[in-house]
Amino acid sequence: MGRKRKKFDTWFQLMILMANEGRCVYCDAAKSEVMDHVIPFAHGGADNWKNLVPACKRCNQEKADRSVLTWIADRVSRGGWYKQISMGSTPHGEQGLEWLNGQIDYVYQNINALLVGAYEEIGDAQRRDWFFDGFWSTGRGSFALSWGRTLAERDIQEAKQAGYPKRPEPPKKRYRIVRDVIGKVLEEIPGDGDQGIS
Ligand SMILES: [Zn+2]
Repeated sequence: MGRKRKKFDTWFQLMILMANEGRCVYCDAAKSEVMDHVIPFAHGGADNWKNLVPACKRCNQEKADRSVLTWIADRVSRGGWYKQISMGSTPHGEQGLEWLNGQIDYVYQNINALLVGAYEEIGDAQRRDWFFDGFWSTGRGSFALSWGRTLAERDIQEAKQAGYPKRPEPPKKRYRIVRDVIGKVLEEIPGDGDQGIS
């Protein structure tokens, strides 16, 4: 029995995708396009902000359901990486193995540094609130996401210039009007990025 993947709101996706300056945490070159489960969803990785980072489609698809280290080790041993370091010709035998391990370690350290940075951003409750405040009412779908992204990029730039973060502390509880069998009622809006982790 497979677990069901959550459908994330636009504000939540923006909150993840805009970390690491809106770039993929793995190649750090391409614009983020999807949320990647660091611990693969297929292997029980959580479907919440604690396990999601911004990634490009290429890295996300190539990593697939592997751990970061397994993916890196595989890619490096097949002779490639985006951040390839030039170390002359590849040594063979026992020395080769050591060299390979060094390469894997080097790439892993680089990516891990970016991951740690992204975790810090995404783990910032005030930042999550900022995205929630600005985009909770933004609809779903790719158009809403790209429109929201344009606004977020602009807002982030402006906020940075003004000495980010400048927004006032949001209220603890927020409500929205929803339709009910008896008419209109107020419903509390979840203010955390967890989106109901159970
Ligand atoms: Zn990438």
